Amino acid sequence: MKNKIKFLGNGDEMFKGEIHFSAPSGNDYTLCGLTLDMDTKTCGDFENTSEKVNCTKCQEIVDYCKSIRKTW
Ligand SMILES: [Zn+2]
Repeated sequence: MKNKIKFLGNGDEMFKGEIHFSAPSGNDYTLCGLTLDMDTKTCGDFENTSEKVNCTKCQEIVDYCKSIRKTW
C-alpha cells in the first residue's frame, strides 16, 4: 500500500527521517498537514516507504478516527 512517505532530509533538518501517512484524498499533504510539494525550504523531497509511521500527529489522527468509527 502506498500510503506512507518518508522525508529524505533535503529540506529542513527537523523533518529528516520522519515517516507519515499521506492524505487519503491524494492531495499534496501528509495526513497531519505537512506539505508534499518537495520544497527544500520546508519539508523537502520524500519517497514511498513501508516502514512504520513515526509521526505522533499522524498516529493521533488515526486513533481519533478509530474512536469516531465506534460511535458511527
Ligand atoms: Zn505526520
